[in-house]
Amino acid sequence: MSDLETNIGKLAGYLARFKESGILNQIGGEAQPAASGATFETRSPVDESLICQVAKGNAVDIDAAAKAAKAAFPAWRDMAATERKKILHKIADGIVARAEEIALCECWDTGQALRFMSKAALRGAENFRFFADKAPGARDGQALPSPTLMNITTRVPIGPVGVITPWNTPFMLSTWKIAPALAAGCTVVHKPAEFSPLTARILMEIAEEAGLPKGVWNLVNGFGEDAGKALTEHPDIKAIAFVGESRTGSMIMKQGADTLKRVHFELGGKNPVIVFDDADLDRALDAAIFMIYSLNGERCTSSSRLLVQDTVADDFEAKLIERVNNIRVGHPLDPKTEIGPLIHKTHFDKVTSYFDIARQNGAKVVAGGTRVGDAGWFVRPTLFTGADNAMRIAQEEIFGPVLTSIRFSSEEEALQIANDIPYGLTGYVWTNDLTRALRFTHQLEAGMIWVNSENVRHLPTPFGGVKASGIGRDGGDWSFDFYMEQKHIGLATGQHAIPRLGAN
Ligand code: NAD
Repeated sequence: MSDLETNIGKLAGYLARFKESGILNQIGGEAQPAASGATFETRSPVDESLICQVAKGNAVDIDAAAKAAKAAFPAWRDMAATERKKILHKIADGIVARAEEIALCECWDTGQALRFMSKAALRGAENFRFFADKAPGARDGQALPSPTLMNITTRVPIGPVGVITPWNTPFMLSTWKIAPALAAGCTVVHKPAEFSPLTARILMEIAEEAGLPKGVWNLVNGFGEDAGKALTEHPDIKAIAFVGESRTGSMIMKQGADTLKRVHFELGGKNPVIVFDDADLDRALDAAIFMIYSLNGERCTSSSRLLVQDTVADDFEAKLIERVNNIRVGHPLDPKTEIGPLIHKTHFDKVTSYFDIARQNGAKVVAGGTRVGDAGWFVRPTLFTGADNAMRIAQEEIFGPVLTSIRFSSEEEALQIANDIPYGLTGYVWTNDLTRALRFTHQLEAGMIWVNSENVRHLPTPFGGVKASGIGRDGGDWSFDFYMEQKHIGLATGQHAIPRLGAN
């Protein structure tokens, strides 16, 4: 039996219970259908087959979940942080124990290739461990003595929070947002993406099996304009941590205005990888390919704009075409597959529409630009050359395995092109000139920049974007800044003079 057949067999075992009872919401520790009884279908992008029915929550379910999160908040906030730490480590243990189930379900639900998803569960566990260890220090503050007062600061959790996640790597992103919220002492209502609900349900079950008190983490499935919107408008929800498209972020900001929501946005990107002619070009090639064609190109940090110096561009692009044409598109559960199907027909239609847009723009489609097979949402990895930065293929987030190559002649021109974009999530700079690297990264408009490297995530570092790519930072202590409020307490150290109004 091939590895693929073995994985398909195992997946069938994991899916059986979902097929039988569907995916339920979890409110106040109880698994339940939507209050209205409505459901929606989740289908696999591999062959469009039905995976299962999913509870279609709306404002009524969100209200119940928000109330459950509010009721659970005081006890969770006041639990000794060392206890919270133990529970979060147990959640990480549970994730590791079910890593295979998580990986196989994630691949089938999203189309992501197993070679990447097999590590996603472990990365999710690492997110829990990292924030578990930070929980006991979350309230630490400063002593800021003044002449008459001992001023101290501390932090307190903001309250129940809403977490809204996208479909591209749903498991990892859910852990990434929820682990710090719980470590800070917040309770959570999670609204996962409607295209990929499976692993959010598994994660929630792991958490409660690990001893997380009922109501601390609630799960409501449903559509963005319905359940998602209600979550952002609910008065008991104090903050919204959102990962998704820039225009959805803008909608959420409006929706949350009446209840003065604090928001944290991780949004879209159109990130440049800038290759200077003095760089290690072989390594630059490997990294550029990895950062756009891994995870089906459905990756906010993907290097979707290649800026290559004209002195080396012919050779670099020729090597790129050869490698891109060699990338293996296939079944996501086949360990050899490098690119699986895109998430959904609507996204497939969007991505493939850029093949014509590229030609209309006057660029060349030198690799890919075609569908693969006639079932499922598979596309060949695609490369556009002869592009300039004003074209739609250079300005818009395509969010698929599609790279636009643009040539530049000088460092000034490279910088001008790199920054001439509404987004500012990541940048990748390839040069062996140290002073240029310093100069360039100083002026590049991006929240995260790697020099001579692909994106290598280190949890203590700040993650987030500028411009239309986001507001706020995750990682390290920055996550706690979002999920917690600063509190100042001033204690008189003596009997300083207090102004005596009305005392003659
Ligand atoms: P999306 O914005 O369409 O949906 C994301 C989530 O928002 C879903 O759960 C959806 O149901 C919900 N939603 C939609 N409308 C809503 C509304 N009006 N109110 C409340 N919630 C609503 O994004 P997507 O298509 O699922 O994901 C792809 C996008 O996510 C890309 O733009 C990508 O760059 C971005 N992304 C960013 C990061 C990052 O860290 N910056 C990471 C991953 C993905």
